[in-house]
Amino acid sequence: MNEPVHFDLVAIGGGLAGLCAAVRGAELGLRTAVLEAGADEKYPCSSRWAGGIFHVAYHDVKLSPDELLAAINRQTGGETDQELAAAIAADAGRAVDWLASQGAVFTQASPIGWHRFTLAPPRLPVAGQDWQGRGPDRLLGELRRRLHERQGRLLLGTRAAELRVERGRVVGVSAHKDGEVLAVRTGAVVIADGGFPGNAGLFRNHIGPRPDRVLMRHAGTAIGDGLRMAAAAGAALVGLDRFYGHLLSRDAMENTGLWPYPQIDAVAAAAIVVDRRGDRIVDEGLGGISIANDLARLDDPLCATVICDSPIWETAGKAAQIPPNPQLLAGGGTLYQADTIEQLAAAAGLMPANLAGTVAEYNDAVRFNRLSTLVPERSVRSGPARRIDTPPFFAIPICAGITNTMGGIAIDRHGRVKRPDGSAIVGLYAAGGTTGGLEGGGALGYVGGLIKACVFGLRAAEHAARQNG
Ligand SMILES: Cc1cc2nc3c(=O)[nH]c(=O)nc-3n(C[C@H](O)[C@H](O)[C@H](O)COP(=O)(O)OP(=O)(O)OC[C@H]3O[C@@H](n4cnc5c(N)ncnc54)[C@H](O)[C@@H]3O)c2cc1C
Repeated sequence: MNEPVHFDLVAIGGGLAGLCAAVRGAELGLRTAVLEAGADEKYPCSSRWAGGIFHVAYHDVKLSPDELLAAINRQTGGETDQELAAAIAADAGRAVDWLASQGAVFTQASPIGWHRFTLAPPRLPVAGQDWQGRGPDRLLGELRRRLHERQGRLLLGTRAAELRVERGRVVGVSAHKDGEVLAVRTGAVVIADGGFPGNAGLFRNHIGPRPDRVLMRHAGTAIGDGLRMAAAAGAALVGLDRFYGHLLSRDAMENTGLWPYPQIDAVAAAAIVVDRRGDRIVDEGLGGISIANDLARLDDPLCATVICDSPIWETAGKAAQIPPNPQLLAGGGTLYQADTIEQLAAAAGLMPANLAGTVAEYNDAVRFNRLSTLVPERSVRSGPARRIDTPPFFAIPICAGITNTMGGIAIDRHGRVKRPDGSAIVGLYAAGGTTGGLEGGGALGYVGGLIKACVFGLRAAEHAARQNG
């Protein structure tokens, strides 16, 4: 091992959370470094591949803190750490202003209110990958430039492996770089490695038995290193069983032109989701994130097909910014169409009589307002249930896609990592997708990955700077 190098603040991971922490730390006078496992100039991470919409629980980040806190509580069914929720609500507006001061350019990407702070240029409304030169990719470049201007370092190809702990306090980190061990001593480590969506073992332990049958709707670089290091240092881990994700064409398992978009969420939430027999298997009314989580827990997550009729396909099918109607076919995805439910089932490989019975029972429940008697129950959280009775009928084989994990390392409002007894581990912070407590819960509430990464990246750096001074 070489002689240790010294910094005041070291971020593990060069996504939005790590870069925000490092740039803000450097701005406040700290000697900062980012250790980034990726070796390429355009190292893949979720922050680079993101859609670029900054929102708080699907609300405009510039609403008042009280309004944002209420929105987070509604979205999470109140199952959010109030300290973290209040931090996001208080700082969301300041976070986008700070990003703008660092070169971020925002645009109102659509008439939807909470799309007001979308990084420019926004991605094109087409199926498949489209991140090169888009707003998030551009922002990472700007932050990196600001870091260098303030004498901060971004060490590419440097994978953090272990925290160095002395008398209960984190004093450094060791990492692998070019086949050697790099020892770093520092006053503050900010874990910002993105969480564990790409770790099949952790997925099996906490989410579902078949990660190989769930679409990895992310860059594949967040593999749970931070979670492991934090746990070894005594951190509490919270809410590991929930993830943020979407429904996609089942063909996306093999066809990269069909992910991360179009999402099938809106169609599924307006229609029904059935298994290979043609039986309903989820509460569609809870929406796409909930359905994706339900499917991911099954022994066979690839068993699901969405069944809808023409009015649903022409409305919900066109509702999203990158709508499955027509982007599913444009991307090469499977869409079955038939004039009767029995013919549709035969085409899609489902059991015709059974599917016809399922649809008839469902239509009766909608007509006579008996949704709660269905098994599984059909709620209306994501919109009203609609009858499936107007041909042509459509079937879309789907899969669940995991974007990022919602649970992770427990932190306080400063981003300090907490032990199970609630005390903070001195010198250790976490930010972004690797943290837990804000999101998830029974309602599977999603608060927003980019805003969470930026707010806690900033807060961690600011607390570390106060400790340093
Ligand atoms: C397709 C897609 C669309 C999205 N759209 C949106 C959106 O519009 N709005 C929104 O709010 N959220 C969106 N998200 C979610 C959002 O992108 C993430 O929540 C957020 O970017 C997480 O940032 P992060 O910095 O925590 O992690 P990441 O961006 O994943 O960065 C983590 C970094 O850590 C590095 N790393 C991992 N392990 C180590 C290690 N041991 N040592 C050193 N480095 C390591 C990785 O290489 C990676 O570069 C989207 C995500 C995806 C995938």
